[in-house]
Amino acid sequence: MKNQLFIDGEYVDATSGQMFDVVDPSDRSVFHRVARGGAADVDRAVQAARRAFDSGPWPRMSGTERAKVLRRMGDLIAKRTDELARIEVQDNGKPLPEAVWDIEDTAGVFHFYADLAEGLDGAETPVELGMEGFTSKAVKEPVGVAGAIIPWNFPLLMASWKVAPALAAGCCMVLKPSETTPVSALELGEIANQAGLPAGVLNIITGFGAEAGQPLTEHVGVDKLAFTGSVPTGSRIMATAARDIKTVSLELGGKSPLVVFADTPIEEAVEWIMFGIFWNQGEVCSATSRVLIEEAAYDAVMARLVEEAQKIKIGHGLEDGVLLGPLVSPSQHEKVLEWIEIGKTEARLVTGGGVPEGLEAGCYVQPTIFADVPEDARIWTEEIFGPVVCVRSFKTEEEAIRLANDSRFGLGAAVMSKDLERAERVARAFRAGIVWINCSQPTFTQAPWGGYKQSGIGRELGIWGLNNYLETKQITTWN
Ligand code: NAD
Repeated sequence: MKNQLFIDGEYVDATSGQMFDVVDPSDRSVFHRVARGGAADVDRAVQAARRAFDSGPWPRMSGTERAKVLRRMGDLIAKRTDELARIEVQDNGKPLPEAVWDIEDTAGVFHFYADLAEGLDGAETPVELGMEGFTSKAVKEPVGVAGAIIPWNFPLLMASWKVAPALAAGCCMVLKPSETTPVSALELGEIANQAGLPAGVLNIITGFGAEAGQPLTEHVGVDKLAFTGSVPTGSRIMATAARDIKTVSLELGGKSPLVVFADTPIEEAVEWIMFGIFWNQGEVCSATSRVLIEEAAYDAVMARLVEEAQKIKIGHGLEDGVLLGPLVSPSQHEKVLEWIEIGKTEARLVTGGGVPEGLEAGCYVQPTIFADVPEDARIWTEEIFGPVVCVRSFKTEEEAIRLANDSRFGLGAAVMSKDLERAERVARAFRAGIVWINCSQPTFTQAPWGGYKQSGIGRELGIWGLNNYLETKQITTWN
């Protein structure tokens, strides 16, 4: 496992010489120490990226040539799936099969953007001016040096959502992984070198938000900021970016609703409610943490949901059959337990509500369900980011839509009904960027990802993700 910063194609110590601890949340032990990057390191990294962008080969290569490097990066990641997945288990806590998905997806993201890079070659859009003597076209060019700041819930996958499209576009990048899960992203440096990525195109600075993240957002050498994380940090980054008019894309928090109509078979409803909130320990920005069940089905669905939630195997991510690992860190553990205590004063706890017996040494939390949650309860309106779901009933479609949309967030939303016309109607009425019908959470590299309202600005993934890293230029000629 790497422990140094990756700047200009080389692993180097932090200027300060300092390191910080990385904790395994299954037993709170320190399993690794990595370089504690600061403003001086960010400056070195941005300068390297600037040189690579202003005079290096990467932005000047054809998309087809860049695609070869991206494809090799994807292949190298895929080859190391088991090793990288085990790093994620130790660093983040997630169960191994879920970590394997993450890494397979990460490799897929590099392959997908390799294909899109090829599509950039020769791409230009003729522009009809309606003025004799003039012709015009629009072309796409890389935005420049991008600064990427990511969270801890899908460490390497979140890195790939930014690194792969940025590199495909011809940008150079400084990536700052979360201080909570910095280990897997550092491996990307070696992978980039092995794949033949020119020095300086990708730089990785591990460190804390205030010490490494903030200087990256403030650096005048950065043209674009891509951030995934919490609303308060996103808001701060936007304010900082305003000073130099940097472009920003923000993927922020959520409190996503799942609306279940009574014509949904109980098993299907329960399956997706569970996956929607317990997958990845509920540490998912789009988790459907508010569940609305039509009154006629409420008791039956709740009874089965509680039964199934109590069967979930909780334990170490490497143990067979485990579906719920520890939360990512002692501080996240504490935060989620505090929310549960607040919930106990606001709603009816029907299962879970604490630390599972025998697992007190790690950051474990029981799958927790609150029923009959009032719409003004804090657990109904605020993001908890753990395996805690709030459930209430509704009487009419209009009421369900009103309750679903009554949130400052607008990331995900889901609806379940066998009446597909109604499901489509509700899907369109949701004020959210990612809407699922008869499922919750499946995520595809091809489809746009991002939120309405305070859940963010812009879209990642698909062609939209590539466009984040492209400028549009008009070239107009007087003939
Ligand atoms: P966070 O905002 O605390 O931290 C995210 C990143 O920002 C970290 O790398 C951190 O070091 C950095 N950071 C902190 N302060 C900074 C500053 N002042 N300047 C620059 N960088 C700074 O969020 P988190 O706790 O790591 O992640 C959880 C949050 O992320 C949740 O709200 C979740 O919903 C959101 N999230 C959103 C998506 C999405 O796609 N919309 C995906 C995953 C997570």
